[in-house]
Amino acid sequence: MTATSTRPPGAARPRRPRGALAAALLCAAGLLCAALLAGPLPFGDQRPAAQRGTPAAGPSGAASGPVPSPGAPGVGDPLLPLDGNGGYTVRRYTLAFDWRAPRTPFPAGATIDATATQALSRFHLDFAGNTLRQVTVDGERAKAVRDGDELVVTPARPIREGGAFTVHVDYTADPTQQRERDDAIRVYGWGPTPDGTVVCAQPNGAKMIFPVNDHPSLRAPVTFRITTPPGLTAVANGRLVERAGRPGGRIRWTYDSEHPVAAQLVQLAIGRFTFADSTGPRGLPVRDVVPDGLVGDTEDHRSRTAGHLAWLERRLGPYPFRRYGVLVGDTDLPVALETQSLSVVPRAVLLGDRVRAERDLVHELVHQWTGNSVAIRRWSDLWLSEGHARFYERLYSDAHGGPGLEDAMRAAYEQHDQWRRDAGAPAEPAEPTLFTVMRYDGSALVLYALREKVGEEVFEKIERAWVTTYRGRVAGTRDFVRLASRVAGEDLAPFLDAWLYGERTPPMPGHPDWQVDPVLS
Ligand SMILES: [Zn+2]
Repeated sequence: MTATSTRPPGAARPRRPRGALAAALLCAAGLLCAALLAGPLPFGDQRPAAQRGTPAAGPSGAASGPVPSPGAPGVGDPLLPLDGNGGYTVRRYTLAFDWRAPRTPFPAGATIDATATQALSRFHLDFAGNTLRQVTVDGERAKAVRDGDELVVTPARPIREGGAFTVHVDYTADPTQQRERDDAIRVYGWGPTPDGTVVCAQPNGAKMIFPVNDHPSLRAPVTFRITTPPGLTAVANGRLVERAGRPGGRIRWTYDSEHPVAAQLVQLAIGRFTFADSTGPRGLPVRDVVPDGLVGDTEDHRSRTAGHLAWLERRLGPYPFRRYGVLVGDTDLPVALETQSLSVVPRAVLLGDRVRAERDLVHELVHQWTGNSVAIRRWSDLWLSEGHARFYERLYSDAHGGPGLEDAMRAAYEQHDQWRRDAGAPAEPAEPTLFTVMRYDGSALVLYALREKVGEEVFEKIERAWVTTYRGRVAGTRDFVRLASRVAGEDLAPFLDAWLYGERTPPMPGHPDWQVDPVLS
């Protein structure tokens, strides 16, 4: 995402992340780290075999197989340990939204096709706000208890390990729900507009939209069935599959995300929209979604997408999805977000200065490669997503009338020790400092340092290899360091680790005159 207000992302008040400090102190005492690090991970059950249950008859009377046990309430990401859930993977979400009017509660349903990765006595979904109606598992009424942002579902009978099951959650959705963060995200959740809504769920606000397994490393395809009153249009990630008439002149819009999508990248927008269709490189379908009254006034900036795609494809290879478009957000929300295959960009950006608008448009487009196609493994890998987006945003702007890349990087270098102190090193964020300037210019600076060290030609090979090797996959900081080392033919771990984790900013290769400003307390 990009903050588009005059206040830069890092200008949030520097503050000591109390949770992280407490964790650090407990870590020093050897108490909490073990608990956090031993938490369930998204890539398999980390518990000793003895705790996973032994073959025996389960409560359901199954003849054999592990004893059913509760799925974990989170995937164990140290920064947001309750995000995501353990014990199952989602194969598909089918979401039904029976939209009524802006800021008005409406009937909604989520069908979740999942596969158990352990024998489950119960399992969790991430779900916040809204009014819960009923939960079924495989058509049978299930016990559902809300505990904070967790929805704890106990099916009528346990689910065997490896078993496919279908959860259906009926609820009344509340499209006014939002939460706030004291970083570049500012506001997330539903984004009401004068005649409908957009959605900005990053980082973990999808649970306000639908019951979900919400972590950036967890992805599944989504089918959207959005029913609107006459005269309104609904859009979502991916392809418009069907537009069908319903009783009362209502219209049901069906979209298929086509690719698996992380919950934070889901888009769902309703309004009086015009589709502005064009094509990108190699005939890529580009469909902008524009509030009716803003089509002409936003056209100049929107029409630059084909050029942005071509410029990025020269650096990062083929665009990774089957279509793209810009959703013009008819909202005062000051942020743009890389919702998958349909980035939302606020109207003020598209009605404003060209250089500023192109920076945001390129930034969100870069994310389609880094962050969306190549998903992050943990929240501490966010530098890989935002650092790349900011690096190419600045590289593009440098060549198209914006500020010079080197000037921007030198300015970031000067402040880097301060940012390390205030927000953690690039790959060591605390939860409250996730989306601060260190993850943007501070992390673009790491990529700049890498380019200065290995040279432009090798750097470009690393970048191309990164988005190609991990296309459609999950990857983290160690994956990047290993891949960069392999492509460069030298062990870059000592160099990159100092940049990513060190307490002090390392010297900038090729710029011995660059100095880091002293840290102010
Ligand atoms: Zn971003």
